[in-house]
Amino acid sequence: MEKHNNRRFYSLNDFFKDEFKDKIFKVSLDGGFTCPNRDGKVAHGGCIFCSDAGSGEFAGNRRKSITEQIDEQLEFLKDKVKDKKVIAYFQNFTNTYGDVDYLREIYYEALNHPKVLGLAIGTRPDCIEDDTLELLKEINEKHFFWIELGLQTIDDKVAKIINRGYPLSTYLETSKKLKESGIKFVTHMIVGLPTEEREDILNTARCIVQSGAWGIKIHSLHIIKGTPLERLYNDTNFKVFTLDEYVDIVVTILKLLPDKMVVHRVTGDGKKDEVVEPKWSLNKRKVLNEIEKELKKRENI
Ligand code: SF4
Repeated sequence: MEKHNNRRFYSLNDFFKDEFKDKIFKVSLDGGFTCPNRDGKVAHGGCIFCSDAGSGEFAGNRRKSITEQIDEQLEFLKDKVKDKKVIAYFQNFTNTYGDVDYLREIYYEALNHPKVLGLAIGTRPDCIEDDTLELLKEINEKHFFWIELGLQTIDDKVAKIINRGYPLSTYLETSKKLKESGIKFVTHMIVGLPTEEREDILNTARCIVQSGAWGIKIHSLHIIKGTPLERLYNDTNFKVFTLDEYVDIVVTILKLLPDKMVVHRVTGDGKKDEVVEPKWSLNKRKVLNEIEKELKKRENI
């Protein structure tokens, strides 16, 4: 595999350096959304791994305006960001689940901030209405933009276990529409979902590549306290991957990605007092080092 800035896969930082010749940071924003998988439109309770924060533990405070949240995060990151620009990232819950006028208002409020270079929006593939797609196309034509889709697995049986609330066909239809619209999309997958074996997980990665995703986010499954997933784990004691198994799977995925597919993440971010298992995932530095070591090892075989 080609090396990019001495890394063995094409990371988001590598992409930023190629595209903007600079390091770019992200500020995580809370647009005040909920999720159709929580409020009853699709289902109640949400995906079984989702925390109260809507899988966005580090996002801004929803009681503040978008501008205030950006300013607050810039203040927090000031030693790192300095004179650099940031991506406004609407991260938690479903950030296209709202009236298109409201979406327009908050997306443009973010884009109009002088430090913001572009926009990233996390959502579900069953939650992009036609008028929202038109808005996203408009933004994509004028600004640097990507959208993120939470797929997690291609197996509809596992999707039922995790209460994802839509079938694989919905992801395939939406990714096709986004591709035809020229919108870059990043697909999330989780390694370690109940009942999934190594080959099932690799098949999800293969499908993400085939769907034309611009980027991929690989998460380790986090069993978070108080979630239905924790209850399922206590009831069934389903298998949790060891660090070695996780590293093997992630490295195998990285090896099957096209050279310029942007890797946004290779592990999860969990809070120490909230993650029940796997505990090794809390030592992110170690996980990243082990992945690098394994990549290097396989190159030398
Ligand atoms: S779609 Fe996202 S926000 Fe909604 S329940 Fe699932 S993980 Fe949580």
